[in-house]
Amino acid sequence: MNLLVVGSVALDSIETPAGKAERVLGGSAVYFSVAASYFTDVGLVAVIGRDFPEEHIGLLQQRKIDLRGLTRESGLTFHWKGRYNGDLNEAESLETQLNVFETFRPLIPPEYQAVSFVFLANIDPELQLAVLKQVKRPRLTICDTMNFWIQGKEDALRETIKQVDILIINEGEARLLSRQSNVIRAYRTIASLGPKIVVIKKGSHGALLFTPASVFSAPAYLLETVTDPTGAGDCFAGGFAGYLARVQQTSEEELRRAVIYGSVMASFNVEGFSLDRLRTLSGDEIEDRFMSFKQLTRF
Ligand code: AMP
Repeated sequence: MNLLVVGSVALDSIETPAGKAERVLGGSAVYFSVAASYFTDVGLVAVIGRDFPEEHIGLLQQRKIDLRGLTRESGLTFHWKGRYNGDLNEAESLETQLNVFETFRPLIPPEYQAVSFVFLANIDPELQLAVLKQVKRPRLTICDTMNFWIQGKEDALRETIKQVDILIINEGEARLLSRQSNVIRAYRTIASLGPKIVVIKKGSHGALLFTPASVFSAPAYLLETVTDPTGAGDCFAGGFAGYLARVQQTSEEELRRAVIYGSVMASFNVEGFSLDRLRTLSGDEIEDRFMSFKQLTRF
C-alpha cells in the first residue's frame, strides 16, 4: 500500500440546483480514496456506524481500497447535510453530526505504519495528529481542512499544519486561516506555519500551486452542467496525491501535473451526485481529459 488516508466516511444529504440526494455515500476519505484508487494502492483509516450500508463497502472493495483500517462502531455514521444555492463553489453546511467520529481514535494497522505517502483528509485535526504520531517518517504528508475546524479547533489544526509538507485548502479557508485577504500573502503566512507547498483551490476558477520556487495557475475544466459539487475538493486531492504516489516524485514538474490530475478527477466528480460518476470512470477517460486540459491551456 502506497498511500494512506484518514478522513470522514459519511452519509450525506445534499441539495443542489440540479436536485436532491438523501443519505448517500460521501465523506472526505471516500471521495479521496476512490479518486486516488485510479492512480495507486490506497489504504483507508476511518470509522462507520451500524447504519452504514454494505453496498457502499462493496464499492470501496471494487476499487481495491485496503479497508483494514476501517472500523465499525455501534453508533451512527457521520452525517453531513449541505445545500448549494446559486454559487456552486460554496456549500452551506446545514447539519454536521459527528456521531461515531466523536469517540473515534484512529489505530493505524502495523502494516500501514511505514507507508510513504499520507493524506490527512478533512476531519478533526486531533485525529489528523493522532495519525501523524503513528506513522514512521513518511516521504510526503499532505493535509486538507475546512472552516468548521479552522473556527472550532484552530490550535490542534495549527499543530497538524506545522508537521505536514503540503496543505490543500480552498481560497476562503486560506483567508480564514491566514487572516490575509490576498492569496500571495495568505501563502506566505501559511508557509510560515509549516508547509512550504500550498495548493489554493478556487472552485470553478481552478487552483493555484505555490512552492518556494514558483507559482502555477491551473484553470478548472470547463463543464456545461455541474450536478453536485460535493467532494470536488477531496477528488482533487485524490488525483493530486494519487498521481504523486504513483510517480514517486515531487519535482516542480510532477507537482504541476498532479494539480492537473486533481482537476481532472474533480471535474468528473461534479458531473453526478455522490460517487455516481467516479464509480464508472475508466483510465482512458482520465487520460483524454488530461489531454483536453493541455489544449485548454496551451498558447
Ligand atoms: P468537499 O466538497 O470536497 O469539501 O467535501 C465534501 C465532503 O466532506 C462531504 O461528503 C461531507 O461528508 C464531508 N464533510 C463535511 N463536513 C465535514 C467535517 N466537518 N468533517 C469531515 N468531513 C466533512
